[in-house]
Amino acid sequence: MTTAVREVSVFGDGIAYFNQAADLLELDAGMRRILTHPSRQIIFSIPFQRDSGEMEVFTGYRVQYNFARGPAKGGIRFHPGVTLDEVTALAFWMTWKCAVVDLPFGGGKGGVTCDPATLSQNELERITRRYAAELVEVVGPDKDVPAPDVNTTPQVMAWFMDTYSMHVRQHVPGVVTGKPLEIGGSRGRVEATGRGVTICALDEMSHMGLVPEQSKIVIQGFGNVGLYAAKLFAERGCSVVGISDVTGAYYNKNGIDVHAAIEHAAKHRNLEGFKGGDKISNGELLTSECDVLVPAALEKVFTAENAPNVKAKLIVEGANGPTTPEADSIFKQKGIVVIPDIMANAGGVTVSYFEWVQDRMGYFWKESEVNERLEDVLLANLGELRAIKNARSSTFRVAAYALAIDRVVKAARLRGIYA
Ligand code: NAD
Repeated sequence: MTTAVREVSVFGDGIAYFNQAADLLELDAGMRRILTHPSRQIIFSIPFQRDSGEMEVFTGYRVQYNFARGPAKGGIRFHPGVTLDEVTALAFWMTWKCAVVDLPFGGGKGGVTCDPATLSQNELERITRRYAAELVEVVGPDKDVPAPDVNTTPQVMAWFMDTYSMHVRQHVPGVVTGKPLEIGGSRGRVEATGRGVTICALDEMSHMGLVPEQSKIVIQGFGNVGLYAAKLFAERGCSVVGISDVTGAYYNKNGIDVHAAIEHAAKHRNLEGFKGGDKISNGELLTSECDVLVPAALEKVFTAENAPNVKAKLIVEGANGPTTPEADSIFKQKGIVVIPDIMANAGGVTVSYFEWVQDRMGYFWKESEVNERLEDVLLANLGELRAIKNARSSTFRVAAYALAIDRVVKAARLRGIYA
């Protein structure tokens, strides 16, 4: 993925998808105007001292996009490519994602423009604590509940929760989700997004007549989402033929030993040097032979240039915003089914919601209970999307936006405009 591609507005892509569904719903101009503006965008400096003593200043963001259905909800991303545009787009998507699976949350997202690969654990902790301290007044279990995203881990959530709790002088586990189990995390949260990807994929595969044991899966990205998706696909008997991360892609037409890849990544922090497949480029991976393709890295990986060459029958968007609107219409013409990000990767936020509920009750569920409830939520809402898609002859994406927008609009209309 080149920097040039990522410079194009991601929020613009989101608005393009929103408008397609808003047209289907015949949404009035006033409501469109409200829903295409973020409620609040916060930008601040994070001065910080490297272990060497050198002073630096990073930029932090938090966007609270919409509160109509509840507190803002969405991850924190630490990445060199983080911009206000990207964070706004991600907060916009969180609004629809929470609504599409019917959670009582609005949408939010945050980030710090930094490269965690160059940071020590101590440096990462200092940045996280300063980031959290800047947001103390505007986050909280009933205001805005962050979670992990690219390059942020349960440990980062633990530092965030501790900093917030120290400031407000009480223990507030429900201020963030994705925490370690020992301090109020939920069982099943770490693998929830990958699990949700496989639940959606397997359900649609059965509708398409794709038998798991005869299906070839390719996954781009081997982090939280991609790794667990690969593991769960393999457990269900699918053949994972391609995987990748920032170091490159690995393809094996006879199936990759996912367990060995996970061990390699745990030992070396990435897939560099993995011998279980032929090394190919990330670009080649996206157009390789497979039945199901799961982008699980960053946004804008499918463009007008590579979309015509994609061979998969089904794309399940583990990442947020991996498909540009141009690529999306090419997939539609080619008959490639796409389960959109706001549905396909909603497993993470759904178990985050379960974590928030458990933190508020102070009572924690068994892993099997979490996984069963997750499957119920995802399949019920995916079923609703399929019904809308069939009734309106639309794509899953337009159906997902239409369902989500309808739910947010109903809440916004009931609450009215406070002016
Ligand atoms: P992560 O940091 O754990 O993993 C990201 C992976 O992508 C890494 O393996 C990295 O090496 C790889 N990668 C980065 N650039 C790449 C490139 N150019 N080509 C191939 N691989 C590349 O992040 P994550 O939490 O797995 O998130 C991945 C995507 O899923 C993001 O779009 C994120 O917003 C989305 N998402 C995450 C969650 C969650 O619960 N973690 C929930 C919903 C959506």
